[in-house]
Amino acid sequence: MVLKCSLCINDERITKILTVNGRPICKECKAFLEHPPDKIKIRKELEELLSQVDKAIVAYSGGKDSTVALYLAKEEYDIDVEAVMVDHGFMAPQAIENAKKVSEYLNVPLTIIREDYSEIFKDALLKAKSPCRKCSRRTMEALRKYALEKGYKYIISGHELPFGHHPYRLMSGGIIQIRLLSLMSEKERMEILKKLPFKLPELPGYTSNCLILGPALERYWEKHGYSFEHRRIAALVRYGLLDREKALKKVEKPKVPEWQWELVEKKLNLIVRSL
Ligand SMILES: [Zn+2]
Repeated sequence: MVLKCSLCINDERITKILTVNGRPICKECKAFLEHPPDKIKIRKELEELLSQVDKAIVAYSGGKDSTVALYLAKEEYDIDVEAVMVDHGFMAPQAIENAKKVSEYLNVPLTIIREDYSEIFKDALLKAKSPCRKCSRRTMEALRKYALEKGYKYIISGHELPFGHHPYRLMSGGIIQIRLLSLMSEKERMEILKKLPFKLPELPGYTSNCLILGPALERYWEKHGYSFEHRRIAALVRYGLLDREKALKKVEKPKVPEWQWELVEKKLNLIVRSL
C-alpha cells in the first residue's frame, strides 16, 4: 500500500511521508504546519500593492485564471491594463478565441507576441519531462522585456499560489510581478468566469489554453506513473483552495484525443508515440 499524506494529496511516490502526532503527513505539509502562511497578511499586502498600481500588463494566456485576473484588474481595481498574450505556437484555438472575446468585452487592448518554443516542447515530449517551468520562464521573460519597452512597472498574472509568503516578486529591471489570485479558491474563480463571455475548453490535463500539457502529462505518466502537476495541485489542497476530490481527478492520467496528438506531432515534426 502507498503511504498517503492525511492533509493534502501527496503520497510516497511524490514526496517523503513522515509521521506527525501519529498521522501520516508529507514533508511539504509539515513545513506548512510549522510556518503557516498568514492568509490575511498576504491578502492585505496584495490590496495595498494594487492600490498603488495605475497601469499594468496582464499576462494573458486566454486560460481561465488569467481571464479572472484580467477581469479583477480592470473592473475591481480600476487599473489601466493591457492584456498581453505570449503565443508559444501551441495555444488552443479556443483560448485565443476566449482571449479576443473577453478583452473586447472588457474593452481592454490585446497584444499577441509570437514566440517559438518548439525546442522546449520537443525536448519535453521526447524525454517525458514537464515543459512547464521552461515555458513559463520564457513567457515571463518576454513579458518583462515588453513591459520595459513600453514603460510598464507591473505585470499581473493569474497564479493562485503566492511566492512563499508574498503575493509579488521583484524582477530584474525594476519590474514587479503580482500574483493577483494569490489564495483565491477555485470556486471563487469559477464564479467570476460566469460573468464573462468565456467558454471553458475541454482539454486533457485540465488546462484551458495549452495543447502541449496533455501530451506531456501522458508521456510523463507512462514513464513515472503519476502526474508532474501532482505537487502543485497538492499545494492547492493544502492551502484550502481546491477540494481533495477535484484535486485527485486533476492528477489522473489524461486521455489525449488522437487529433491533438496528430496536431502536436505534425507541428513539431516529430513522432513521439512510437518511441
Ligand atoms: Zn501533504
